Amino acid sequence: MRPTSHTADVVCNDVKNEEKKKFLYTRGGICQGKSGWVLCPLQTQLEPLALFPPSASRPDSEHRTPLAASPSSPARCSSAVPAAAAVISGPGGGGGGAGPVSPQHHELTSLFECPVCFDYVLPPILQCQAGHLVCNQCRQKLSCCPTCRGALTPSIRNLAMEKVASAVLFPCKYATTGCSLTLHHTEKPEHEDICEYRPYSCPCPGASCKWQGSLEAVMSHLMHAHKSITTLQGEDIVFLATDINLPGAVDWVMMQSCFGHHFMLVLEKQEKYEGHQQFFAIVLLIGTRKQAENFAYRLELNGNRRRLTWEATPRSIHDGVAAAIMNSDCLVFDTAIAHLFADNGNLGINVTISTCCP
Ligand SMILES: [Zn+2]
Ligand SMILES: [Zn+2]
Ligand SMILES: [Zn+2]
Ligand SMILES: [Zn+2]
Repeated sequence: MRPTSHTADVVCNDVKNEEKKKFLYTRGGICQGKSGWVLCPLQTQLEPLALFPPSASRPDSEHRTPLAASPSSPARCSSAVPAAAAVISGPGGGGGGAGPVSPQHHELTSLFECPVCFDYVLPPILQCQAGHLVCNQCRQKLSCCPTCRGALTPSIRNLAMEKVASAVLFPCKYATTGCSLTLHHTEKPEHEDICEYRPYSCPCPGASCKWQGSLEAVMSHLMHAHKSITTLQGEDIVFLATDINLPGAVDWVMMQSCFGHHFMLVLEKQEKYEGHQQFFAIVLLIGTRKQAENFAYRLELNGNRRRLTWEATPRSIHDGVAAAIMNSDCLVFDTAIAHLFADNGNLGINVTISTCCP
């Protein structure tokens, strides 16, 4: 360890008090070790919020101006982060919050903004040789530090910032679209996977359509970009899948409208296990998970003195079909069963949607 004129952003930008800064420098309080910037004991004993008292001004903006910004960067403006709870929890304290936020908390979380993508830099936090932070996703695509163009290798961890990160609640990634939750960084990815403010993807099975947008825009996207999908009105319809003997993975999709909602019916033929083709049939609601809980659907294969029935709650298109198929949480049958019910290679599935009383 050696005292150095360089400092990590967390210190050099925010210790505005020159006397204090001098004190820290002269006492060798801010040192760079192999494992990152280390705060002196005096500083580490401070509560995280106390690092940035209300009188402290924002970090120098030129330190935070990116030299390079990826054109595909999410357009998340830092100033658009809504007022979220200014809660400091202990390490591992967990638990999300929502509510009014203090400017100090916003300043604190903004110190973790990646200068390239404006997402948060979360542990493991790595810095350049001069102490600038960049998130791990962007770091993998960069050959030098976006702030100072210095070397990014060898990797230097910033343990002090990691400790601060563990004491701060961060806004959800979808804060700009309405989510007011703030979460411990370890809980953020899990929440963001299921956050109801996350953009909707095109519900059509298969990965060919990359459309994303709001729930309100899903139906018009389907009507314009997937014109071949037919819609039937009514709560009790027959979903007729033709040519079920087509080789390879095949999807059949249609829409059903009833109770003022649109449902997507999907029949997928795929080989989940090699050499064993199976059919998976499921109903999705063009709506939220909460709306889906108000409905039930029944799929029924019926004919030749046999009946096979599946009843469940429709899935929200937010959750998609992939996980349901993976877990067989849908009507599953193999090709032999399909042939028992098929007529000339066509399979009719009776679909009934009903509302559940709350
Ligand atoms: Zn980034
Ligand atoms: Zn740098
Ligand atoms: Zn959220
Ligand atoms: Zn689409």
